[in-house]
Amino acid sequence: MANDDATERYAALYDETYGAQELSHALPKSGFPAAERDPRRVYAAVRDELMLDGNARQNLATFCQTWEEPEIHRLMDDCIDKNMVDKDEYPQTAELEARCVRMLADLWHAPNPEAGVGCSTTGSSEAAMLGGLAMKRRWEARRKAEGKPIDKPNLITGPVQICWHKFTRYWDIEHREIPMEDGQFMMTPEEVLARCDENTIGVVPTLGVTFTGEYEPVKAVSDILDDLQARTGLDIPIHVDGASGGFLAPFCAPDLEWDFRLPRVRSINTSGHKFGLAPLGVGWVLWREEQDLPEEMVFWVNYLGGNMRDIALNFSRPGGQIVCQYYNFLRLGRDGYRKIHGACYLSAAFLAQEIGRMGPFEVVYDGDPEKGIPCVSWKMKEGVEPGFTLFDLADRLRVRGWQVPAYTLPANCEQQAIQRILVRNGVSFDLCSLLIDHMKDAIAHFEAHPIQESLGKHEASGFHH
Ligand SMILES: *Cc1c(COP(=O)(O)O)cnc(C)c1O
Repeated sequence: MANDDATERYAALYDETYGAQELSHALPKSGFPAAERDPRRVYAAVRDELMLDGNARQNLATFCQTWEEPEIHRLMDDCIDKNMVDKDEYPQTAELEARCVRMLADLWHAPNPEAGVGCSTTGSSEAAMLGGLAMKRRWEARRKAEGKPIDKPNLITGPVQICWHKFTRYWDIEHREIPMEDGQFMMTPEEVLARCDENTIGVVPTLGVTFTGEYEPVKAVSDILDDLQARTGLDIPIHVDGASGGFLAPFCAPDLEWDFRLPRVRSINTSGHKFGLAPLGVGWVLWREEQDLPEEMVFWVNYLGGNMRDIALNFSRPGGQIVCQYYNFLRLGRDGYRKIHGACYLSAAFLAQEIGRMGPFEVVYDGDPEKGIPCVSWKMKEGVEPGFTLFDLADRLRVRGWQVPAYTLPANCEQQAIQRILVRNGVSFDLCSLLIDHMKDAIAHFEAHPIQESLGKHEASGFHH
């Protein structure tokens, strides 16, 4: 009997992958597994599940990186054991982070980039929490000094990414979100001004609004707040959500004034893993100057005899993304970023032109580098009834693996459906031309087989990318 067991185990070692006894039934889904399994077979099984996710490269909804150079893959492997929080144990990784902060301060025209006040985060969401919290603390300090109450803080934004809804909800702040109007999909200086009062902790314009991709007018908002201060003494700071634009405008619209060139801009967040071209899991938040970061938010940690700020929400955090961000800065420089993003803008312009020509669509935003990020958004032309909705088109494009999201806009434009394509590194011109062919095929398909029952009807779907 024992002998048979041994023979069986011995035979099992040489089992091929899918013919093996181990993979001859469904794998555990909830009860904690009792026994060990062969790594090769488990790897195959887990990897197969990932295949069901769909192809990330064809996911045209995401702003995040889905293609990286081989060197980045290697660095990520090299860094699998680097913990960002252990500044003492991995001082050189900490040093690379500090260099990135200084380089970003330089890129964004901070008055003293060598002093670089800021840190890496897990993404723009954590960066927004930190930037927002600093605004709240500064406002509280000012109010306390004036002997005024601090129980009713408010924050003014345009139609923002969900992270700002989280920020205001988690920290009990009234969110004065400027609603969309027909034909007006972002904040205007006048709408901002109408919402300002002594309890406003700050204004957050977005450089690359989630829904359409357009830049909100940071300079015009700053100007109107300058004017407000001259008239009333109210000094309301700006935090720019540059999740996408923070890594686009400096290279592709260098004359656009949105950053620390404007004295009212006190802090900026960006996502390294979007147009910063780093792998998933890195964002950045920078403050204009030392005094813009409230001291009570800083935990000073000893670091090889020196002192270093720790301002993140997480404790342990992977370091590879940050090391790769530094690699990107060295590898690409301003020229490289301009080249890569420039190619994306060209592809976006091509898509906008072709989509406009198809007939039923009206382009909302065409990927103009001075006006927003490399993406295209469009809606159905007023009064056109082509026999399908944008949601049907999204479904049909899935047949070829493309994920081109259709979604409805937030308040007050919930009836307005929009479709959007994000063009990022690796969404090549050639892939874009194939996508256009597939869109034409899809429209021809709907002409031959109209989807009557779905005309004008769809489930309102939330959209949070
Ligand atoms: C993506 C995005 C965020 C959230 O950033 P993460 O890096 O995904 O946390 C916030 N704001 C805007 C405008 C974004 O595009």
